[in-house]
Amino acid sequence: MNGIDFGVFIGRFQPLHVGHEHVIARALERVDRLIVLVGSANVARDPRNPFSFAEREAMLRSAFRYEMAEGRLIVAPLDDHLYSDTAWVAEVQRKVRAIVLDHGNHHGFQNRGLTDFRVALTGYGKDASSYYLKLFPEWENLQIDSQYGTFSSTDVRRRYFQRIPEIAATILSNGVAEFLRGFALGEIFRGLLEEAEYLEAYPAQWGVGPFITADAVVVQSGHILLVERGQVPGKGLLALPGGFVNPAERIRDAAIRELREETAISDGKGQIPPAMLASFIEDSRTRVFDAPTRSLRGRIVTHAFLFRLPERRKLFAVKGGDDAAHARWYRFGDLSPDMLFEDHWSIIEEMADL
Ligand code: NAD
Repeated sequence: MNGIDFGVFIGRFQPLHVGHEHVIARALERVDRLIVLVGSANVARDPRNPFSFAEREAMLRSAFRYEMAEGRLIVAPLDDHLYSDTAWVAEVQRKVRAIVLDHGNHHGFQNRGLTDFRVALTGYGKDASSYYLKLFPEWENLQIDSQYGTFSSTDVRRRYFQRIPEIAATILSNGVAEFLRGFALGEIFRGLLEEAEYLEAYPAQWGVGPFITADAVVVQSGHILLVERGQVPGKGLLALPGGFVNPAERIRDAAIRELREETAISDGKGQIPPAMLASFIEDSRTRVFDAPTRSLRGRIVTHAFLFRLPERRKLFAVKGGDDAAHARWYRFGDLSPDMLFEDHWSIIEEMADL
């Protein structure tokens, strides 16, 4: 060993392929223990993130059974915070710190501090998406050269969501290939396939954008107003009320119009008129959400408006309408990120100060 106690390797592994496995295997030759943080652990399934954290952990176990059993490879979930790299970096630091102190001290038999350990970030700077390798100056850098070029999970998923999801054995190890074959027979795969086909046809039907949308973040007495999506994409997931801006309409007006259409929000006197809804908007909080990957439909830039309704014992009445299946108030504490469509959880996190 050359003295590196812990390596840290971050990836989505959607799915795990031989390029990832190569990096992990080479890193394990150069560090005592390797921490693999499985990113985007908290997002809802979609054709870009088809597999849950538990499924990706199982893929890693199938390829590195002994290393995981011996505690040389430690796997943990890592959540996204799409609009706050600071929150994401803090989460990486917290996870690594907890694992290093626990495993480095043999689960409590020793009492060494974080600075007693040499930690190195492992990676293969594939492309611009690996910019985050530079966000951790406190750690050493352990660059692993790959024999697998720019080959990526995107290629595997593209092939997988064709009607015959057969993947060459040279790209995936046996355990992963077997898991993918079984997964392709199930109900979840069928839903994802429907979604993938819808998204494939989307540009021809609607163009590639950029599109402008407006979303309403409506809060009242510890609750947020959400709609359940009735159709693909994201059928069954919860979303902010919102939609595409009409050509002759202001973005703010689009947010109010969509809110009324999708939720029919009313007080004791009937549907709340647009001017009154507008008066609830906290203008200083209006924000653009523009992560290029935020929607698989294309480049969609959204503007979110915070509607803070008066605190009341009885929440304003709502009902489903338009293309949303149901509109309902949700207690913040009952929501988890994987219940929400696209980046709506990250938007709520930012707008509602969660
Ligand atoms: P990935 O699975 O595409 O890649 C993981 C690692 O494997 C990378 O170092 C990559 O360079 C390497 N790799 C990929 N193909 C390879 C090949 N053919 N040969 C050798 N190595 C190869 O995962 P990713 O997209 O880099 O994952 C980053 C994770 O971190 C994601 O979950 C992302 O959402 C998260 N992240 C979140 C934030 C935030 O929330 N603010 C910010 C940055 C990153």
